[in-house]
This record gives sequence, C-alpha cells and structure tokens, in this order.
Amino acid sequence: MNDIKLATLGKNNKTIIQLGDLHVGQDFVLIAGPCSVESEEQLIKTAVAVKRAGANMLRGGAFKPRTSPYSFQGLGLKGLKILKKAQEQTGMPVVSEVLDPRDVSWMCDYVDVLQIGARNMQNFSLLKEVGQVNRPVLLKRGMYSTLSEWLSCAEYILKEGNPNVILCERGIRTFETYSRNTLDLSAVPAIKELSHLPIIVDPTHATGRVSLIPPMSLAAVASGADGLIVEVHIDPENALSDRDQALTPELFAGLAKKIFDLHDFLERQN
Ligand code: PEP
Ligand code: MN
Repeated sequence: MNDIKLATLGKNNKTIIQLGDLHVGQDFVLIAGPCSVESEEQLIKTAVAVKRAGANMLRGGAFKPRTSPYSFQGLGLKGLKILKKAQEQTGMPVVSEVLDPRDVSWMCDYVDVLQIGARNMQNFSLLKEVGQVNRPVLLKRGMYSTLSEWLSCAEYILKEGNPNVILCERGIRTFETYSRNTLDLSAVPAIKELSHLPIIVDPTHATGRVSLIPPMSLAAVASGADGLIVEVHIDPENALSDRDQALTPELFAGLAKKIFDLHDFLERQN
C-alpha cells in the first residue's frame, strides 16, 4: 500500500470527526432512518422514534441508486428539505447519499455528512468533488472491492483536502444468495490495523433480512466498529425501497439497547 499515504496508519493519529456533540471515531455512532425519504410525516416520525431509542445520527436517501430505472428514485431536493427539517427538529446530524458530482456543493446546504454509495465507491470524479467540500464523507465499500482499493478511494478524498472520511463496511458479493451480501466483519479489525479512519458497519444492506440484522449488529460491535448504520421505517411493508430489510422503530429500540449495553460492557474490559 505504498501509494496510499494519507489513508493508512503510519504516523497519523486516529481521525476523530466532530459533528456537534458527536465525535465520530471516539463516541459510538448509531445512525438510523429509512432507506429513502418518502414524506415529511414518514421521516419526522422515524427520526423522533430512533432518537428516543438512542440513535445519534439520522439517515435517509433523497437520491437513490436503484437497479431498475423504473423503481422509486427518491424525492431529490424535496427529500433534502425534509431531512433538513428533521435535523432542525431533532438536533441529529443527517447523512444522505450523493450520486452526481454536480450535486455535491449545493447538497452541503442540506446535509451534515455526504454518503458515497457502494456502487459509486470508485466514481473518481465524485470522490474528487466531495474531497473539496467542508462536509465529512461516509464512504461505503464497493461490493467487489478489496480493502486496498477501498482505502485508495479514501485517499482520493483526503488528497483533495477533506480529512474527514468515515469508512462503512456494507457487505460484499459472494456466491451466497440467502443473504443480500456477505458481511465481511474481518474488514473492521483489518482496517483498524491499516488506517486511522473510523469504520462503521451497515448490517442492513449486508444481510437484506430483518432477522439477520440484530445478530450482525452485535457482532459488528464486538468486532470493534466505531458505529452502525441501520435502516428503520415506521411502516416497513409499505416502504418504497428496501422493505424486506427495514426494522420497525420497536425492533430498533430493543436492538439499540443491546448495542449500547454490549458496547459499554466491552469498553469496561479495556
Ligand atoms: C443505502 O445506504 O441506502 C445504500 C444504497 O447502500 P449501499 O450503497 O451500501 O448499497
Ligand atoms: Mn437501502
């Protein structure tokens, strides 16, 4: 990894990213919210519920990278305005995916963290663009990417001058089809050996199944992850995207308690 100078550990100190009271890389980050922003009512109700359960950041897609062009593509600007409202009402920072380099700078008026999705991990013009703005970037691992390729993508962002990158393991494609992807939890301690950047885990897209999300969330905590990003919907059956993997607010609340209990237990061992 000789050509990955900025993203690798070397003599660099651990990166800690401040978002209001939250210090990513130091405090445990629990990001929750719907796959897509669908309406003001849907997002605000979800935001209030996940905050009550212990989430400290809100997610919600306004631009959705869908496999089919006929699937719901997201509300775009309208969705971003709703996210901003939820941020103002709950005080939680919001993260949302940016798909197009042309949207990067104006999206910063609406979101606290820009997400680069798995499908765009190696979209180099997008990486260069988010490297030039004053917003942390949540960089998901591409579904076919090695750790070295992933860190090289973080390097693109850091090289442009943005030091605030959060990595997110979201499962990789393997021959297995029961789960949507295969969660590579060894990536967490491996990234800790290689890089100073915080790494969180997305058990939702990694498994694609509600039943698998709680155990994989706890395993991610045990692996040393700096946080989790989990999809929650007030009415999963009627969600416009990813309905099979959305937790209800009630399921999320039960899981959040276990996540923090396990995290506290492990902290006490150190
Ligand atoms: C998402 O977080 O909504 C998403 C599309 O995830 P990924 O890019 O990991 O598939
Ligand atoms: Mn989703």
